[in-house]
Amino acid sequence: MSNSKPAPVILWFRKDLRLDDNGALTAAAQSGRPVICVYIREPESERTGPLGGAQAWWLHHSLSALLKSVEAIGGQLLLRSGKAADVLRKLAEQTGSDRVLFNRHYERDDLDAEIIAALQEDRIEVKRFKGQLLHDPHSMRTGTGGSYRVYTPFWKALDRDGDPREPLDPPKKISSSLINLETEVLKDWDLLPKNPNWAAEFDRIWTPGEKGAWTKLAAFTKKPIQTYKKDRDFPGLGDATSNLSPHLAFGEISPARVWFATRQLGEFANADIIHFRKELVWREFSYHLLASFPQLPVKNWNDKFDRFPWSKNRDGFTAWTRGMTGYPIVDAGMRQLWRHGYMHNRVRMITASFLIKDLMIDWRQGEAWFRDTLVDADVASNAANWQWVAGSGADAAPFFRVFNPILQGEKFDPDGSYVREFVPELAKLDNKYIHRPFDAPLDVLARAGVKLGTTYPNPVVDHFTARDHALAAYAEVTGRS
Ligand code: FAD
Repeated sequence: MSNSKPAPVILWFRKDLRLDDNGALTAAAQSGRPVICVYIREPESERTGPLGGAQAWWLHHSLSALLKSVEAIGGQLLLRSGKAADVLRKLAEQTGSDRVLFNRHYERDDLDAEIIAALQEDRIEVKRFKGQLLHDPHSMRTGTGGSYRVYTPFWKALDRDGDPREPLDPPKKISSSLINLETEVLKDWDLLPKNPNWAAEFDRIWTPGEKGAWTKLAAFTKKPIQTYKKDRDFPGLGDATSNLSPHLAFGEISPARVWFATRQLGEFANADIIHFRKELVWREFSYHLLASFPQLPVKNWNDKFDRFPWSKNRDGFTAWTRGMTGYPIVDAGMRQLWRHGYMHNRVRMITASFLIKDLMIDWRQGEAWFRDTLVDADVASNAANWQWVAGSGADAAPFFRVFNPILQGEKFDPDGSYVREFVPELAKLDNKYIHRPFDAPLDVLARAGVKLGTTYPNPVVDHFTARDHALAAYAEVTGRS
């Protein structure tokens, strides 16, 4: 390398697969130095587990989009595999770089310390930036200096502080290093499923990458946000919610950008906008909980639950994963998850409650299944929500709040359109029985072409008996009756 050229800076892309509102990228561009962009495929971490199958699919397409967008601003994105500290050290050595920039990625914040120490040993300066969340989860403190345990005061504190920082525009140009550096080939990472290609329908629903995120945001802020509060609980309505979760999970769009897009809708924050922002803040709150309790994905927040007599019901678990429990709303949700890598929020609560309380299966089994099958799987949000449903979490729903899958179906999918879409063998059943086929007279079933136990399963448990059983186990563990 010629001495007259400034040393390049290394920009490490992680869960921030975007050019827009990317603090590290903007700083790299503004440094005036050549920029070397790298994405590292790291070995799985013990805490966060392997990358789920659905997210592997997403990552392939998201990286493929990012490779092109980095190129469009004059750079090159290198793909490398290995432990982040080793890869970054080697890259710095190969290029003569003395500075590494990256955005914080809170689910592994404590692990970053090791990487920073390793780079500093080699006299490499490290600069970290924020952008994964609206607020640094470590900085949100209660009046007495503690961390928040309850959502409502957390939201109020955040709301009191006003808008978060303004998002940054994407850099128009970065200068490239001109050094010929080796890169791995995305296709060789084998992230896409084969034989069978269970992600066949994903392409129809999702467009991973920054552009896809902006398209979803534009569609949502154009209309559905105006009725968000009322419609968000009805899975049959389709796009009544933003569908931004996988884009946010991979950092293809920043929460600040989403927040500001809702601000531009009008002077007055109406009830629908506020409700939507409150959901974004549930994501923040999940990270806040994870920051104060990094074991959130693997340990009960409330250790009374450590004594809970979870069942090893393997057949029940298999029926649940396959959407064959005999409860239509549960089965529709689990099949939506398999086909689309996504499940509507209301139905996530119903299916999670069913696993934990009707089947008495440990919430961690459900958390792991969701992590493998959701395109939006997120360590903080997934764990916090599973513990919320289980009743074992901070600010959780009480254990005795057991979702009744029949009533939930009738209330939130009144015409059965969601069930009909994902459980087609029940499509011809009358509205009256669509959420309770086991109560339907034989002639009604016959007219709809349903033969219970043959074309559609009988219920794997009786909900009311199972509920009593779960509540009795809970009373024993907690000493409450
Ligand atoms: P919108 O209704 O449009 O909400 C906007 C954004 O707010 C979402 O994209 C998401 O980032 C955030 N958000 C909304 N609800 C929640 C919530 N309850 N908790 C945290 N953030 C929220 N969400 C994930 O992103 N990843 C997960 O792994 C995940 N696992 C879940 C597991 C269970 C058992 C339950 C009950 C919920 C889980 N959620 C998870 C939360 C929620 O279901 C999804 O964020 C939401 O359905 C995504 O759809 P959307 O983008 O259209 O949401």
